[in-house]
Amino acid sequence: MRKPIIAGNWKLNKTITEATNLATQLVEGLGSISDREVIIAPTYTALRRVFDVIEDSPIQLSAQNCYPQTSGAFTGELSPEFLQDAGCQCIIIGHSERRQLMGETDLFINQKVYKTLQAGLKPILCIGETLHERENKQMFDVLSKQIKEGLADLTAEQMATLIIAYEPVWAIGTGKTASSDQAEEAHAFIRRLLKEMFNNEVAGQTRILYGGSVKPDNIDELMAQKDIDGALVGGASLNAEDFIRIVKFKKQIS
Ligand code: PEP
Repeated sequence: MRKPIIAGNWKLNKTITEATNLATQLVEGLGSISDREVIIAPTYTALRRVFDVIEDSPIQLSAQNCYPQTSGAFTGELSPEFLQDAGCQCIIIGHSERRQLMGETDLFINQKVYKTLQAGLKPILCIGETLHERENKQMFDVLSKQIKEGLADLTAEQMATLIIAYEPVWAIGTGKTASSDQAEEAHAFIRRLLKEMFNNEVAGQTRILYGGSVKPDNIDELMAQKDIDGALVGGASLNAEDFIRIVKFKKQIS
């Protein structure tokens, strides 16, 4: 059984005061929820104050990025160890905005994944194809490269805590969600690949989240798919009511 995860990526939004207010609303609205995991990823500057708000709740803290070195002459960067010191349990790695805007490569992303695991934190590895790649029938090749290179040299044991987020770039922040069939097709492909690269157990245990314009009105259908284990939510995670509804997605009774 894979426990569902709903993660909110706040990106470059919410001042420290706004972030602590939103976190307070989530703590109150979600109570002691335990049949699903909830993760929020505020900006770096808000991390510690948000941690103080959620510390005694089931909500976990995530960073949106990291640098793959512990400490030293790396001006402006933060390592997994420093993020852990701020209260983080997870780190989002390889988000499409960082791949596209900051030119992050699969090799660099792999170094971050490795370092995050070494520090004892959970990486949320983001992958996904652009519209151009999908239209040119390159989707499976792109996903395969991102997974194989992003997870290069990891052992099956190291995969135990890693989370994958499939986020088709054309669906992020655009209001266009992949249909549940399109999302399921990609998730099933990723799971088959994990089986090939590692083993049945890794394929069966790894949580694969869907991301791309997830909203209160599409979460239930997405979560009804066999290989969709949760969601990485951008825009809708900035509103407490919407995010709480997404976290409280309705389970289909089969
Ligand atoms: C994201 O940033 O990871 C994301 C999925 O954004 P949105 O939900 O706004 O499409």
